[in-house]
Amino acid sequence: MENQVNLELHNLMIRCQQCSLANSRTQVVIGDYGPIYGMLFIGEAPGQEEDRIGRPFVGRSGKLLDEMLSQLGLDRSKVSVLNINKCRPPNNRAPTPTEMEICGSNWLDKQIKNLVPKLIITLGSTPLKYFFPNAKMTASKGNLLVLNSGIPVYPLFHPSYILRKRNLYQEYKKDFIAMYKYYLKLKNLDQIITPIENNQSNLDNFF
Ligand code: SF4
Repeated sequence: MENQVNLELHNLMIRCQQCSLANSRTQVVIGDYGPIYGMLFIGEAPGQEEDRIGRPFVGRSGKLLDEMLSQLGLDRSKVSVLNINKCRPPNNRAPTPTEMEICGSNWLDKQIKNLVPKLIITLGSTPLKYFFPNAKMTASKGNLLVLNSGIPVYPLFHPSYILRKRNLYQEYKKDFIAMYKYYLKLKNLDQIITPIENNQSNLDNFF
């Protein structure tokens, strides 16, 4: 989704020095854009691999996200994937509320405006709390929330959490199916979802 608006935004973003995370990054990770009016996944911040390669969700968490998409017949080109913070925090610590506020208001909010997502899917508690500070991850998972702008938000666990809690893997797959069914309803598509089962697929693939 490269257009003049995004090019100008990205040219500013890659030089951003507005918070202290500029000191610890290798590069600014802008994010991956899919179609407008589509699904937008939002994570926390780049990790080591993302910082090195310059794309979001490219490590083990990214592999799990790809598998969750693939069971829906989707790949990364069909969705957008962004982080709240575009620069890697030192030692992979969580971004502070101030860092999130600065980066979110400068960049993420503008990216959302440009993408006009039909559905935002937050991955983990940090992006959930960015939008809804009082929300609790476990209680909110799978429940629909709505931003002031009217955009629905569907909270899901971060893939890294599932990599640590392997017993939640099957439930995570179902969560993605439920989310996608809801997205199709929003799009007014009467598509029947037949999850693509891969018998070889299990969490062992990620270790
Ligand atoms: S994290 Fe965001 S606000 Fe901070 S320096 Fe990077 S791009 Fe700028």
